[in-house]
Amino acid sequence: MNLYPLPAFSDNYIWLLHHEGLALVVDPGDAAPVNAYLKANKLQLDAILVTHHHGDHTGGVAQLQASWNAKVYGPAHEAMPFKYQALKQGNTVEWQGLVFQTLDVPGHTAGHIAYWAEVPQQDPLLFCGDTLFSGGCGRLFEGTPEQMLHSLDQIAALPHTTRVCCAHEYTLSNLKFALAVEPHNEVLIDYVAHCQNLRAQQLPTLPGLLAKELQINPFLRTRLRSVIDAVQQFAPHTSQQDADIFGNLRLWKNEFK
Ligand code: ZN
Ligand code: FE
Repeated sequence: MNLYPLPAFSDNYIWLLHHEGLALVVDPGDAAPVNAYLKANKLQLDAILVTHHHGDHTGGVAQLQASWNAKVYGPAHEAMPFKYQALKQGNTVEWQGLVFQTLDVPGHTAGHIAYWAEVPQQDPLLFCGDTLFSGGCGRLFEGTPEQMLHSLDQIAALPHTTRVCCAHEYTLSNLKFALAVEPHNEVLIDYVAHCQNLRAQQLPTLPGLLAKELQINPFLRTRLRSVIDAVQQFAPHTSQQDADIFGNLRLWKNEFK
């Protein structure tokens, strides 16, 4: 099983898996880079997974579906302008011996889903769209802090060896914010240097490792004293409630430069 992040637009990744000549893509916002990769590597597109309805994740689906006759899967609770098999929490997708579990992860959008699978002889894979980013999380366009926190809690409960395939290369700017929240986090300080080195070579910082995210991503660490104290410094009216702390951390990030 081969995994490859196809760069698209300015900072999207369209994740591509291939096995024995067949390929699966996740969130193809643009068909062109997918078609170019398939052609260069003599692959056939077999399946498309979609996490949520935003155009930068769906723009290429109809064209790819038509030209490859690919199966398309997507969120049951969102409307998208093409035919697809609707999935919700507990549903599975089988592809080339993998069994993807569907997770409902509302917050960025109301019906956002994620896909998690074990991979023989490799670490598990998570395709989480715009829910979890390395060092950050998606903006709350359609959901509440409670929902997003619950979604991230579900992700945090997956095996910590899980490779986290996020849909955007936002890592360095997220880590800049993470450092403002936890300036004394040694693991974070080291990880910033590691990611800066990757970006200097134009390499992706993804997939991330869930174990690492739990150590460096403030949005997975909102119950820790260091993060609570920092949020209360930013927003002194913040209560002790998990969702309030999370919500104010997200507001802080929104205005952080
Ligand atoms: Zn989005
Ligand atoms: Fe996006």
